[in-house]
Amino acid sequence: MAKKLPIVPSAKAGSMAEAPSGIIWREQHPVIGDKCNQCLECIMFCPEGALKLENGKVAVSLELCNGCGTCAFECPQKAITMVLEFSGDRGIFPLKEGKS
Ligand code: SF4
Ligand code: SF4
Repeated sequence: MAKKLPIVPSAKAGSMAEAPSGIIWREQHPVIGDKCNQCLECIMFCPEGALKLENGKVAVSLELCNGCGTCAFECPQKAITMVLEFSGDRGIFPLKEGKS
């Protein structure tokens, strides 16, 4: 009898698929949006030193980011969106209510 296997979760490029030796339990990672005005507050608050200014833009190191969301919480411009690592209705991190 064939086993009923779960749907394999997918990871978008730029997430854990590219940094398997990094933070493997991270649920989500930040994406910096257009509203960023380079105030640098997120860089100061990040507990992992995962954010830096690169060519005039805030860049995220996915090898260091633990997905805590502090940067998104502290950003005065609300320019940071936390994006789930896995998608699908039966991913290993099921979507929580209110999240898309
Ligand atoms: S806190 Fe927000 S506005 Fe300031 S640098 Fe970070 S992403 Fe940009
Ligand atoms: S989610 Fe946390 S660890 Fe990752 S960049 Fe933001 S503050 Fe730093």
